[in-house]
Amino acid sequence: MVATPAWPPKSAPRLFVPGPLAEGASVPLEGGQTHYLGKVMRVSPGDAVVLCDDLTGEWLAEVSAVGKRDITLAVVHRLREREAVPDFWLCAALTKKAAFDLVLEKATELGVAALHPVLTRRCVADKLNPERARTIMTEAAEQCARTALPALEGPVKLEALLKGWPEGRRLYFADEEGGVPAAAAFTAHDGPAALLVGPEGGFDDTERALIRAHPAAIAITLGPRILRAETAALAGTALWMGTRGDWGTLASGA
Ligand code: SAM
Repeated sequence: MVATPAWPPKSAPRLFVPGPLAEGASVPLEGGQTHYLGKVMRVSPGDAVVLCDDLTGEWLAEVSAVGKRDITLAVVHRLREREAVPDFWLCAALTKKAAFDLVLEKATELGVAALHPVLTRRCVADKLNPERARTIMTEAAEQCARTALPALEGPVKLEALLKGWPEGRRLYFADEEGGVPAAAAFTAHDGPAALLVGPEGGFDDTERALIRAHPAAIAITLGPRILRAETAALAGTALWMGTRGDWGTLASGA
């Protein structure tokens, strides 16, 4: 018996759109998403498109109209609920564009719940384009069939981050000058967590003392070798996901 092909096909384009999505809703697209569906994917009426809104989950939609500059989709039904992601924040000092773009993309794939760009004294970069950053994260999520996006917070000075630190969230301070081995620290503590990583030039002594004095902070080492800031951010995040996160479960949408 010939198996009926899965619907929507794995090749169906995926897009994040503003929510909440609902059965029967009509979703007008414009700008880059219209160009992508119209010119790149060359969709026609009736074609399947998978929509996510980072709120209600993933929906099957069909192209209902293709115009010169706009495309309208009709939502058919929900395919998946929004996934749960572990309650883990990556607090990464701003680094140069290419390195921080990598952090934005890979931290999204790794499943962080939120990304907090941090401004420290030795940061070379001192601003972040939020729209561009959000696009990088959204494209990473679309390419990896995700139904959830990390929250992207505005860049915040280290002192303000520490001052406003939420009760009950452990702050793992990646300190290249030494600390508890990261795997041991992560394994020893459950609950909401965050990893704080410095910029290319590291933290200065005043910052290091301020972080270490914070009641939620635990200094951790990521081993005997100095890692680039982006490597430390992603390696530390992966290690937390593997020890305390949800990497013991099967990949969904596989
Ligand atoms: N101070 C470093 C040096 O001597 O070259 C420069 C900072 S390192 C490139 C960037 C950041 O990555 C550090 O601030 C720290 O947060 C983290 N990091 C790098 N290697 C690490 C390690 N072995 N253990 C813990 N954190 C590390």
